[in-house]
Amino acid sequence: MTLSLAIWVVTALAAFAAMEGWAALLHGKVWHRALWSVHRSHHEKRRGALERNDALSLLHAPVATGLILHGCAGAPGPLRDVAFGVGLGMTAFGVAYVLVHDGLVHRRLPVSGLARIPYLARVRDAHRVHHSTGGPPFGLFLGPLVVRRAARLSDPGGAPSRAPLPSDR
Ligand SMILES: [Zn+2]
Ligand SMILES: [Zn+2]
Repeated sequence: MTLSLAIWVVTALAAFAAMEGWAALLHGKVWHRALWSVHRSHHEKRRGALERNDALSLLHAPVATGLILHGCAGAPGPLRDVAFGVGLGMTAFGVAYVLVHDGLVHRRLPVSGLARIPYLARVRDAHRVHHSTGGPPFGLFLGPLVVRRAARLSDPGGAPSRAPLPSDR
């Protein structure tokens, strides 16, 4: 593996992971606050194929495109490889987000078969928690971990809930 290839592959993976945190931050601190007038359309019943909130999904595309173009045509060097990797990681995250969030969770694409991957079914269920409460998880792919941690905090016993047995008394 050449150094150039190694740089952009590692950078792309790191960018994909970082986008989960960045998306959660934007969703919780900006979409649900300053940009609620736009994001609200995603929490209401959709009329027609599009919702105002779709505009927010497009925000990162020009940045990712610019980075990939620089990665293709910029002067050779590590900066070019990093730009290419970040652009590619952001694009992969965007595609995965659209497939799982818009497709699997909100059924806007015919990808219900993705639920055969058990973890993605848990991601879907965790995002439904956000839609029923308006609270966390604000991220998508780590949603199941956030839901599990919240359940543990609210029930420090941590045991799966069951009816009390006579021996409990
Ligand atoms: Zn939301
Ligand atoms: Zn949603």
